[in-house]
Amino acid sequence: MMNAVASFADLHLHTLFSDGTFTPEELAGRGHEAGLAAMALTDHDTVEGCERMAQACKALGIEFIVGTELTAEFEDREVHLLGYFIDPHNEKLLAEIKKFQTVRQSRIREMTDRLNQMNIPLRAETVFALANCQSPGRPHVARALVQEGYCPSMEEAFERYLKKGRRAWVPKCKISAVDAIALIHQAGGLAVIAHPALNHYDEMIPLLARLGVDGLECFHTKHTPKKARRYLNVAARLNLLVTGGSDCHGFSKGQPLIGTVRLPSIYLEKLKEARRQRHEHPTILEAAK
Ligand code: AMP
Ligand code: ZN
Ligand code: FE
Ligand code: FE
Repeated sequence: MMNAVASFADLHLHTLFSDGTFTPEELAGRGHEAGLAAMALTDHDTVEGCERMAQACKALGIEFIVGTELTAEFEDREVHLLGYFIDPHNEKLLAEIKKFQTVRQSRIREMTDRLNQMNIPLRAETVFALANCQSPGRPHVARALVQEGYCPSMEEAFERYLKKGRRAWVPKCKISAVDAIALIHQAGGLAVIAHPALNHYDEMIPLLARLGVDGLECFHTKHTPKKARRYLNVAARLNLLVTGGSDCHGFSKGQPLIGTVRLPSIYLEKLKEARRQRHEHPTILEAAK
């Protein structure tokens, strides 16, 4: 490129194919308005929205990266792993995703059963109709509680019933972090630890790095600038790639978060370079799969 105009990416985004509220087209349009040069779609346990998002981004001249966000487990703690550049047609990935989705659906029934036991007659069918996707989750239950008048707001629904430890909280099916990393790698992708500050367990970062994780999401809506700097140092020390994104799920307090976290394109270039290297020089382990 001749002149170095700064360009930015948002690599953590959700649509209504999981618990976001924007369609891929709306999300791409919002990203365009926010002046983003690149976007990745990282819906929970699905890649279904990626084809539409790719089309929408292409029409707007935005670079698109296929992604997903998997809920994994490491030492009895939940860790979200982002997979970037995965092949959305990879059979093994799709088979595993299907399992997670089946469990997510029965989990919705378990959550509404528990609410019913608390004399809140929310029906699972109401949640499924509202979610209208293969990857329903707690935000859909929260929205249904608000819609049906059982709760004044989503925040209140989480606070009263859905957050970890509350009576309608049901744990999710979790893949081990090691298996999730392998699943992402065999689908041709790079595995990145999402929003580490939300895990409250930074000790896991070097351990996961040793287990093959490729990157760390240093920039995130819930990371203060101080935290972001701290994670940039951790990433440099452990030789991890740096990513960042808004984790936009639609409107948040009246504003969409998309574009509020702006990852300088240099980091995306490094990510792409790592992917190229991986494809040209697969490790013996990966080549054997
Ligand atoms: P699930 O994957 O079904 O466990 O739902 C997790 C999603 O719920 C996260 O990605 C957030 O979007 C949302 N979430 C988690 N905790 C809260 C909370 N306290 N208030 C609002 N949304 C939340
Ligand atoms: Zn979510
Ligand atoms: Fe997450
Ligand atoms: Fe997310």
